Amino acid sequence: MSDYAIELGETVQPFTCTHCGEEAVTVSGSVSEQEAPYAIYFAALMTPHEQISARLTISLGGWGDDDEAERQWAYIEVRPKDGESCAMMIRDAKESLHKNEKVLGTPMSRAEVLKSPLRDEFYAVADYIVFKDPAVKSYLAGDEVSLVGREKPE
Ligand SMILES: [Zn+2]
Repeated sequence: MSDYAIELGETVQPFTCTHCGEEAVTVSGSVSEQEAPYAIYFAALMTPHEQISARLTISLGGWGDDDEAERQWAYIEVRPKDGESCAMMIRDAKESLHKNEKVLGTPMSRAEVLKSPLRDEFYAVADYIVFKDPAVKSYLAGDEVSLVGREKPE
């Protein structure tokens, strides 16, 4: 984990939840490993919901050389557990708001991720985002979404 570094996307993007119609927010960012681009992510923070849930869209591979064919992406739901840690659940990529964004590469279903050698990398990057992105971290802690390092929504 210590080889990773994070760069936060500038904006906090509101979106309308398809389930309840309330407004939630998405933040984004990228992760590098040993200074090479490694992953990009979107984190949907379900702020109107009573149950705290951050939904991460994470794309791995080919970010250094612009090769979309090498990229694969997964959709992971993160919920707080026992006040200290988080529970992570791989979901199907087609559930993600970003399912039509070709730049992310090939979407992976839950079954594909679970049997993939990338599985542990997805978990490691998700863990790092939860720990390092102030918006995601504050939200999962039950606090107001922190805008540290970002601009306010328009
Ligand atoms: Zn909702």
